[in-house]
Amino acid sequence: MKPEQKIAAVVRTFRDCYGQPRRQGRDALEVLIGGVLSQNTTDLNSARAYERLMQSFGSWEGVAGADGRAVEEAIQHGGLAARKAATIQSILRWVGERGGYSLEFLRHRPPEQAEKELRAIKGVGVKTARLALLFGFGMPVFVVDTHVLRVAKRLGLIPQGCTREKAHRLLDDLVPDSQKYPVHMNMIRHGRQVCRPRNPSCDRCPVRRWCVFAPERK
Ligand code: SF4
Repeated sequence: MKPEQKIAAVVRTFRDCYGQPRRQGRDALEVLIGGVLSQNTTDLNSARAYERLMQSFGSWEGVAGADGRAVEEAIQHGGLAARKAATIQSILRWVGERGGYSLEFLRHRPPEQAEKELRAIKGVGVKTARLALLFGFGMPVFVVDTHVLRVAKRLGLIPQGCTREKAHRLLDDLVPDSQKYPVHMNMIRHGRQVCRPRNPSCDRCPVRRWCVFAPERK
């Protein structure tokens, strides 16, 4: 089966099983900073770090002007605090120099251009940049997190040794623009609930017939 046919079948099956998630309008800058805080930690810890950041400084302007150590202290829940604090302050200074604490000026840029601009900020990687563009503006960019990467490899949609950078490019081509948000959300749901890293529930997996990993487990 060609990858284009397989992705169409997988998209349909996920939609039947998990529904068609709809994007809620979210502030792109909040998503971008939330993405930095979520690197290498759990959702709970990154949510706590975000909350502490807001409680401690009250506004993005406050975070931008704060002492780096104080920002680090506020976000320590999520780990890698020094690196994340530096990235967050770089982002805020970057947007501050462009007229305010908002990413609205990127809304009408071509997606590749907007991604390139965000990735020029030290510490902002492909996933974090694209999260802001997809969730904030609904741009047609596919986002690959750890669950999406695992599920896509197990289904044989991308090569087993594929890097996350390359996975973004391959899945961008494969997933239709109108489906980029729902497929991202449904792959995460599938990866958390069924296709877990260890002991995936292959016996109740709705996309098992297309999986290249499940037969190896017999
Ligand atoms: S069959 Fe198993 S390994 Fe394959 S996608 Fe489903 S849960 Fe994951």
